[in-house]
Amino acid sequence: MTGLIVKALSGFYYVDCGGDIIQCKPRGKFRYEKVSPLVGDRVDITPTEPGKGRLDTIHPRKNQFQRPAVANMDQMILIASQAIPVTDPFLIDRVAAIAELKDCEPIVVINKCDLNPAEELFQRYQATGIRTMRVSAETGEGLEELAACLHGKISVFTGNSGVGKSSLLNALDEQFQIETGEISKKLGRGRHTTRHVELFRLEGDAIIADTPGFSAFDNEKGGEPLDKDTLDRSFREFRPYLGQCRFIGCAHIKEKGCAVLAAVKAGDIPKSRHRSYVRLYELAKENKPWEK
Ligand code: GDP
Ligand code: ZN
Repeated sequence: MTGLIVKALSGFYYVDCGGDIIQCKPRGKFRYEKVSPLVGDRVDITPTEPGKGRLDTIHPRKNQFQRPAVANMDQMILIASQAIPVTDPFLIDRVAAIAELKDCEPIVVINKCDLNPAEELFQRYQATGIRTMRVSAETGEGLEELAACLHGKISVFTGNSGVGKSSLLNALDEQFQIETGEISKKLGRGRHTTRHVELFRLEGDAIIADTPGFSAFDNEKGGEPLDKDTLDRSFREFRPYLGQCRFIGCAHIKEKGCAVLAAVKAGDIPKSRHRSYVRLYELAKENKPWEK
């Protein structure tokens, strides 16, 4: 049988096989080969007894992330807010760059538009070509567009705490509300204390990875390492200019004849996006190759 790992807990993998959740133990060879199955993996399993099985093989992955440990994410939903809290655009740019690097579509969702319409932030991301939408979990504004964008995909929700990730999931699916409540109750101190990732199926055909406190958003250096040599491709509005700089290997920081800098100057690339790029480039320079 083939299924999708929706949860990993205490050495067991919970595999969704057409709606039935089978608790699986991995075959010994995984430990031997130092391969860890991940939430989001498509896997083949062999049933052993009712509700239980053995995990035999992992299908090839489209992508994988370390923090949170998930695989095969189609899109990264970057929840931001310009009310309380105000999301630092640099964090959005960094997580979006990580997503682009891994061929995971970043989508910027600005929540709490009932409190602040976030015109400036909206324009900024519109200008990059990253899909951007404005929503309100409170009034329901924009939720149809968000639901449509989640349909048929596996999406990972990220954002700094308090932006409204849970509120949005609850607003998208009443069922989810119950589940979130139960999980919080079971853990006693609420969902922010847990680190485990789980996939949820929303009404319709959308799968969501809810990752409490995605570390990449919560501090400047956390999350996945970025590579300075491929960073420029992770800024999608830079792409039309790559290869047009005077020098091969141009870092687009302050080089003469740089096509990216010319585009920034001409207003075709948002200045603040380029500032984020420079900051990420400096951080990526500190990454030691052996840490990758
Ligand atoms: P999370 O930490 O990202 O999961 O954020 P929560 O969903 O817990 O929301 C944090 C707070 O913001 C709660 O008090 C919510 O009621 C509130 N909130 C969430 N979305 C909205 C919104 O669209 N508008 C307003 N006014 N408040 C919101
Ligand atoms: Zn350049």
